[in-house]
Amino acid sequence: MSLGASDIPRGGAAPSPAQIDAAVAAEREWMEALLVRLVEAPTTLGAEEAGQAVMEAAFADCGLTPRSVALDADALRADPHSSPFSWSVEGKRNVVAAWDGAGGAPVAGGALAADGTRRARSLILNGHVDVVPPASASLWTGDPFRARRDGDWLYGRGAGDMKAGLVAMTGAIRALRRLGVELAGRVELQSVVEEECTGNGALQCLLDGSRADACVITEPHPDHFTVAQVGVLWFHVDVRGVPAHAARASTLGFNAIEAAYGLLGALRELEAELNADPPAPYDGFAHPINLNPGIVAGGDWTSTVAAECTLSCRLGLYPGETPERARARVEETIARAAAADPVLRDHPPIVRYDGFACEGAVVSREEPVVRELAAAYERVRGAPPRLEATTATTDARHFVRHGIPAICFGPRAEEIHGIDERVSLSSLAEVARVLASFVPMWCGTVNEEVRPALARAAHGEESDVCR
Ligand SMILES: [Zn+2]
Repeated sequence: MSLGASDIPRGGAAPSPAQIDAAVAAEREWMEALLVRLVEAPTTLGAEEAGQAVMEAAFADCGLTPRSVALDADALRADPHSSPFSWSVEGKRNVVAAWDGAGGAPVAGGALAADGTRRARSLILNGHVDVVPPASASLWTGDPFRARRDGDWLYGRGAGDMKAGLVAMTGAIRALRRLGVELAGRVELQSVVEEECTGNGALQCLLDGSRADACVITEPHPDHFTVAQVGVLWFHVDVRGVPAHAARASTLGFNAIEAAYGLLGALRELEAELNADPPAPYDGFAHPINLNPGIVAGGDWTSTVAAECTLSCRLGLYPGETPERARARVEETIARAAAADPVLRDHPPIVRYDGFACEGAVVSREEPVVRELAAAYERVRGAPPRLEATTATTDARHFVRHGIPAICFGPRAEEIHGIDERVSLSSLAEVARVLASFVPMWCGTVNEEVRPALARAAHGEESDVCR
């Protein structure tokens, strides 16, 4: 059912917990159908639009007016915190939709000032629509881009990371709107692209002017809130060999694939160094910094000594470390290993950057968004969430850098980036309940007695509400 403006009841103070739970429960079918549509839109890099069309319709179905935020290659490249990209972003867009608050002083929720007055606060709910490739489609039980349900689990690439999160945040807002809640502060829903490769989608929203008092990203971080994350650097090492007939490989030629393997060994030593003495909040981790060789591409014939090989790697970096410093360490490592090799010395490998070049981020545990989302979580779950650091990156860093505290919390998923990725539908509904409880608390609500006063204030008349 589509939700038009006339379907939205007017007025009402802060909804009760029971009303919120019932309203979210009523969205369950809508949310599950949306998740199926999203999973069946194979939104890998370059193919995100199919998913954005689904999200645009979903935001409209909440009675909101979706807006496109087009990726602008020049504007992104001009920003020092963008990640480099060699592909075209022509035609790519984020989809955002704002629920404008009534403004003024909320009668419930919002920030309580020292003098007892209340202030409406704004919120961004963010999720990414892009997904990673299936890793190996043949290892999946079914088609990775066909949603398959088994009990509480829904399978599919991106089901957990993070289409269920997008669904939870949208379902929460739809429930609140159908309940007739009138918020004092503004909520912006964002469905962004390129979280899995650059983070440039979320960055474009910030370049477009998106701002709020806090941001919640519904990544699949269940049973805890993620308040700290590492940075990530993608780098590509181009190795040149000397081709020859394989029959004479013991005396002729120089194999670029084997040389790349040797360089990987040197990079593993760098990784060990980086893990030797982790700083807080990673001091409790045995191995916080992971180097991942994700793609190796080399050679063109089985009986030819490989002439070329490219090793594409992902390396984590601690919050506080810059991508520039990480690049320097990678380049030093490669240069040292090449200098010690009689052939590579004359054909030094080239290190290129394409994709992630981002810093880590940390949000204080004392931030109001951490405490108040935790209160909403505790109401639903009966116990407070753990606060954790992750050894991955998320778009949270862009918001944090712009002074917007951003934390991750979302549905329970398994095998993200793996085989038979799946997400728990009951946890999706639970996350929607937590968010639907949190939003009125954070943004504040305006009730029937207050609304006419706000309207008068908007027309320049005196009001005792909007002081
Ligand atoms: Zn994700």
